[in-house]
Amino acid sequence: MTIPTAAIISYLWSSDIKELIGDDTWLDYYIHDSDSPLSRLPEATGMSYEYQNNAKFYFHYIGKNTGLKTREVDSDEEADISVFQVPGDYFVNQGNDNTIGLTSLYDSYIDILFLESDSTFDTKSTLVHEIGHSVGLRHPYGDGFNSDYTTEDTIMSYNDGYYGGPVSNLLTDADQAALKEIWGENGTNYDLRVDPTALNEDLTYSSSAPKVPRSLFLPIPPLTMPS
Ligand SMILES: [Zn+2]
Repeated sequence: MTIPTAAIISYLWSSDIKELIGDDTWLDYYIHDSDSPLSRLPEATGMSYEYQNNAKFYFHYIGKNTGLKTREVDSDEEADISVFQVPGDYFVNQGNDNTIGLTSLYDSYIDILFLESDSTFDTKSTLVHEIGHSVGLRHPYGDGFNSDYTTEDTIMSYNDGYYGGPVSNLLTDADQAALKEIWGENGTNYDLRVDPTALNEDLTYSSSAPKVPRSLFLPIPPLTMPS
């Protein structure tokens, strides 16, 4: 069943995220790797190169296909969205026994936490689902278990598709349409992102949340398609 975009858009989150990002519409994301311990989340472990690349792929994809421009930054402090892998017992220790991924929206930043599942594919499915939340998507009509839909319809469903297993960890047509509804069509500003001079711009934010001055913007890393 084709799912209407309104069923997977969180208008509340979307407007909060827009405010958090600021008028410039640049979404700065940080992928936590193992080389830099983080004081505010000491449990965070390093993401494997494969998961790092997978997360980058989706942010890159969203930046390329919607009006939301995305850019990787090299520290948690600079980021609008930070992605962290946590150990297998992390959510259990937090009292959330059945959680494998979590996206939290705070006043001036968003955290994505995920743990590694038994299969790489499932872990990637978790990642793209959480990234979906982080850019304004919600579960089908607010219920991940809504039995009318599966991951064939939207990455925001908890239900596997045919054959009893997850069929996709890619954004579906409905997911892409919903993201364009939230962020607009691929903006003309997107090209600025690959302009070397644009990478050194001193961007100002209109949001009330203080932003740490940026001194270095990383260029877009080479990306590979998730397997
Ligand atoms: Zn969810």
